[in-house]
Amino acid sequence: MSRKTVFIAGAGQAGAVCAMALRDKGFQGEIILAGEEPHAPYERPELSKKLVSGGRSLADVTILDAAKAESLGIRLLTGCTVSGLDRDARKVGTDADSFSYDWLVLATGGRARALPGAALTGLPLVSVRKAEDAEQLKALIASSRSVAVVGGGWLGLEAAASCRQAGLEVDVLEMAPRPCARVAPPALSEALSALHAANGIRLHCGAGFSFVPGGIRLADDTALTPDFLIAAIGMEANDGLAAAAGLATDRGIVVDSQFRTSDPSIFAIGDCAVATQSDGSRLRLESWQNANVSGLAVACQITGTPLPAPEPLWFWSDQFDAKVQMAGSLEGAEEVILRGSGTEQMAFHLTGGRLIGAWALNCARDFVLARRWLAQGTRLAADRLADGTQPLKACTAA
Ligand SMILES: Cc1cc2nc3c(=O)[nH]c(=O)nc-3n(C[C@H](O)[C@H](O)[C@H](O)COP(=O)(O)OP(=O)(O)OC[C@H]3O[C@@H](n4cnc5c(N)ncnc54)[C@H](O)[C@@H]3O)c2cc1C
Repeated sequence: MSRKTVFIAGAGQAGAVCAMALRDKGFQGEIILAGEEPHAPYERPELSKKLVSGGRSLADVTILDAAKAESLGIRLLTGCTVSGLDRDARKVGTDADSFSYDWLVLATGGRARALPGAALTGLPLVSVRKAEDAEQLKALIASSRSVAVVGGGWLGLEAAASCRQAGLEVDVLEMAPRPCARVAPPALSEALSALHAANGIRLHCGAGFSFVPGGIRLADDTALTPDFLIAAIGMEANDGLAAAAGLATDRGIVVDSQFRTSDPSIFAIGDCAVATQSDGSRLRLESWQNANVSGLAVACQITGTPLPAPEPLWFWSDQFDAKVQMAGSLEGAEEVILRGSGTEQMAFHLTGGRLIGAWALNCARDFVLARRWLAQGTRLAADRLADGTQPLKACTAA
């Protein structure tokens, strides 16, 4: 039997995890991991956190360096853009070469959404998606006194916190009435607003603004004249290669629950994939956990090894000294029980007596328990849960 080849387009977190998991699961064939960035695969979360505020370097967040790739027999091609896909011939083309594949894994991630109109300000503008962006942000912070962050989602708030920790005056502009409104429940948004206000960040939510030469004009006519701008208005999936090859796309590469595209020999994983849910809706997850889970799931399918048990979705964010964590579903619960207050609080979303979702601010230990309950479908005693004097572990139903 000829040696099989898995070609992975995109050497970010999902691609690297998939390549390593293939070897771990006993794949004997050739693995080619091709990424357009000049770096070995690295994890992005610290780009808006300690890579900017200090304490971590790119080497610290590298997942698969050249030596490790070689030892695993993974052919790692950096600075290599995959520019063409011929599905009939099962070939991909790069700038310099073409490669045949038996399985193709698309792991092309996303790019920062452009901020329309910002050029009018004439100010330096940075978004945070790649290692170079973090370097640029660090340099701007070092030479500036103030910044306006456009976008009050996770990334915007993290970047704002990093700038504030470096001593800058910080304004955050968010179109929605509250920060992280797309995914966080109102109580969590409120806690985040309080955290940022307490640390001296001016958060402008729900108000329009316009770019003007030299800065930003708020709807109430207040003029902001920051030294530079950060664009943090979300990402767009890199699905152009897939779309050009006739694969289904819908703000991402459409996959089923097992990350299979409309072509049986092609998978899509991580941020570039959009999964069709049982109700027909489509969900794109942009998280560290999803990059890992999808990379591993595809390696299991290619090697014919059992898939790991599904785990509840979870996500974290670090802002100032606060750790924010969310898991499960935070929408549509019958009952929401809040424990704690201020900078240490946790919410339990219950339906039918079972936990369907939870979030925590600086309650990392209790959050571990909540994730376990979510995975096990544990029934909880709402009255004990609501009584903050009861230890959390005593709150399961008899
Ligand atoms: C600043 C920042 C902070 C984050 N913080 C958190 C956090 O706190 N918690 C959390 O859960 N998640 C966080 N995330 C999200 C998490 O990092 C992403 O979900 C994860 O990186 C997705 O991995 P990926 O491999 O799908 O995409 P990526 O890591 O983006 O990798 C995709 C790679 O493919 C390459 N590529 C694209 N097109 C091509 C092509 N045609 N040919 C070759 N290569 C190509 C890209 O250059 C890139 O290197 C953060 C993300 C960012 C940007």
